Amino acid sequence: MIWHQASIENALAALGSTPQGISNEAVMDRRTKYGLNVLQEKKNKPAWVIFISQFKDFMIIVLFLAAMISAYAGDLTDAIIIVVIILLNALIGFIQEYRAEKAMEALRKMSAVNASVKRNGASILIPSAELVPGDVVDIEAGNIIPADLRIIDAHMLQINESALTGESLPVQKIISPIEKQDPPLGDRFNLAYKSTMVVNGRGKGLVIATGMETEIGNIARMLQVEELDTPLKKRMAEFGKKLSYIILGICAALFGIGLLKGEEPMKMLMISISLAVAAIPEALPALITIALSMGAKRLMFKKALIRKLPAVETLGSISFICSDKTGTLTLNKMTVTEYLEIDNPEIREAISPFLAAISLNHDVKHTAEGALIGDPTEIALVEKAKLLHSGIIDKIGTLLPRVAELPFDADRKCMTTVHVYGDKFLVLSKGAIESIGANLRSSSGELEQFAVEWSARGLRVIAFGYKIMDHLPARIDYASLEKDLLPAGIAGMIDPPRMEVKQAIEQCRSAGIRPVMITGDHPETAKAIAEQIGIMTPGTISITGIELAAMPDEDFRIRVDDIAVYARVSPEQKLKIVRALQANGHFIAMTGDGVNDAPSLKAADIGVAMGINGTDVSKESADMILLDDNFATIVNAVKEGRRIFDNIRKFVKYIMTCNGAEIWTIFLAPLIGLPMPLLPIQILWINLVTDGLPGLALANEKEEKDVMKRPPRPSGESLFADGIALHIVWVGLLMAALTLGTQAWAFQSGREHWQTMVFTVLSFSQLGHVLAIRSEKQFLFRLGLLSNLPLTCAVLLTVLLQIAVIYVPFANELFKTQPLSAGEFLFCVSVAAVLFHAVELEKFIKSSKKN
Ligand code: ATP
Repeated sequence: MIWHQASIENALAALGSTPQGISNEAVMDRRTKYGLNVLQEKKNKPAWVIFISQFKDFMIIVLFLAAMISAYAGDLTDAIIIVVIILLNALIGFIQEYRAEKAMEALRKMSAVNASVKRNGASILIPSAELVPGDVVDIEAGNIIPADLRIIDAHMLQINESALTGESLPVQKIISPIEKQDPPLGDRFNLAYKSTMVVNGRGKGLVIATGMETEIGNIARMLQVEELDTPLKKRMAEFGKKLSYIILGICAALFGIGLLKGEEPMKMLMISISLAVAAIPEALPALITIALSMGAKRLMFKKALIRKLPAVETLGSISFICSDKTGTLTLNKMTVTEYLEIDNPEIREAISPFLAAISLNHDVKHTAEGALIGDPTEIALVEKAKLLHSGIIDKIGTLLPRVAELPFDADRKCMTTVHVYGDKFLVLSKGAIESIGANLRSSSGELEQFAVEWSARGLRVIAFGYKIMDHLPARIDYASLEKDLLPAGIAGMIDPPRMEVKQAIEQCRSAGIRPVMITGDHPETAKAIAEQIGIMTPGTISITGIELAAMPDEDFRIRVDDIAVYARVSPEQKLKIVRALQANGHFIAMTGDGVNDAPSLKAADIGVAMGINGTDVSKESADMILLDDNFATIVNAVKEGRRIFDNIRKFVKYIMTCNGAEIWTIFLAPLIGLPMPLLPIQILWINLVTDGLPGLALANEKEEKDVMKRPPRPSGESLFADGIALHIVWVGLLMAALTLGTQAWAFQSGREHWQTMVFTVLSFSQLGHVLAIRSEKQFLFRLGLLSNLPLTCAVLLTVLLQIAVIYVPFANELFKTQPLSAGEFLFCVSVAAVLFHAVELEKFIKSSKKN
């Protein structure tokens, strides 16, 4: 079948369908025949690939070489232990990465889009993956076309097909057949293609191809959650590279010094290699990605779905949250509380123009259960119509059938329908007071006065106009229908603020984040609501879209920081707001739900789309989707983002300090005339067990008490800012000093267990360190050991393993350790405790400096 040449009837017949869609039984058959309507995505990495990829690391290869050298030199136990350690390392890396992959997969599934389809004659919402050829789907502005369609109904339907054709201007769609044999895709005006975007109007389409059979499937383009390298990961990788060179230099120097001091070359080689392996933080960049994707998963439970991983990191730097009003700050549950009907003698038969408008000018649908679905503004009007005139409301649609319409759009702020009215036509318009007022034949004085009064009380006001035409105009457009109207009335409706919002806004303020309201609504309505919820405070101002348009960019940039409310702005103007704020160095989260919000969502540092009422297009452009459309969720996400970032910092702090201590210890010992403090196997053990387990558990740390009481973190701030670099150096040195001090004392006093003591002190002081850095401000005794149970368990487990290494004969052989006496053991514990207390003292000094 050549779809663009086929008439609607033929197309429907060819697929055994009707304008009412197909039956559920037919769907079943077709699902087996055609499969799911999905593009073949990049396959997830299978588990074994993830496991094998753990061995690709340069350092692991070095370790393998070390194992081989060991085996060659005759030390088989060492070789085996190194291999076991490599395997354990790979296993931990694998488990983490596998969990992160699963988290990303869950996120991908959550962001799938739905389609409104006719099945068994009724409209239902299904995941678009479940569409089959023959289905009839409703499409409207903001939708992403779910499959290839033959258009069977179109009202001002315009589609942006750039995803497929590269053409950025939208194409007007029609329903009549096209004669040309083989026009290019962009000229098949009665077809719509999967993955293209409806930018205006609405219509219906018959599914003619699904999944890989669609045009987009043919060129195998994929729409997926983007997984970008996060800036933090990139910076960490660069830093890691530089650091590796330094560490390799130190290890080479160590090797040289050892040889000069007459140590065995083989032994020195092994020590140098083990030290390099232990000290180079090769896994840090990967661990950062893992921490971010696990964070993304946690955010999902908090109703914030992350689409682009870097967003988790950016959340902590947000300094402005620009939010829509309706539905995000308010409940989007409207109720008409005021109305004014203008008496009009020209048409006063069964129904007044006002009543006709509120009962007919809408796209509200009734479900089988009698509930209303659609735009809440329109639902409120229909409910009012039912209250006012329950008798006629069911019949009015048949009495005055709709023959044409101009759908609502946020720029015009108006919607118009045309109805058969005897031998004439009744045009009904509804919209913002300015939009209707500007198109009235006479002045709108009285209406406007009421509109301002109601708006100042926080009501959303809709005005209505109408006219009677003798003929349907040849062109159904704004100029022919929306001019020269007569006033029909106005209605005012309340939309209460969400309960949690006021508190969320207070939290924003204490966290140095400024909340801003951007709305299409009337300035008075916007201001009234903004004052109720605390967005508008003394010193802040509100401006309108018209004022914004008139303001040169530079003037606007100077004033933008003080503007708390933007009213009657069009979605396109949001871009200007984002740019001005960014020019002032701010980091912006911007919400959006409509099709025209896409550019500003992309431009914002975090574009936030609405999961419930957002259009597919806005969701596609967003970094984060609010599953509950709630402003408070953004604030919670910021809090979670700050926590995740803090924990990454703690993790880096821990690993770098431990690695530093290991290097200092081993490098300084020969310089101060001591023998090699640790054996290669002991170094590797510390690196894997002591550093690894508790370090990972740091990700579970709860947020710091002041997490929402401090200003946003400057973006691009180094992970080592805020005294962390200094901490890494001094704590590393102290740890080394304690270890070497123990060695010097034990060695010189002739204790034969000196090496086991060194090994134990280093191990235990690292555990003391991890407990102390759980919070940057609070002491451990205040946090308690139960507030991060995984970490406490990891520390306990490591202590038990270390005890096993000291006291189990078999482990003694492997790790070349000897059982310590009770006194020696206690000595090691006490020395390690010194480190713990020193780091606790650092908090005390820091906090007293700040006060
Ligand atoms: P916000 O940007 O805060 O979410 P909004 O999205 O509700 O607000 P719009 O939908 O752009 O803002 O509405 C702007 C104005 O258009 C409203 O104040 C109202 O006057 C008018 N309006 C809204 N919905 C309709 C509709 N369905 N038909 C006609 N006019 C409407």
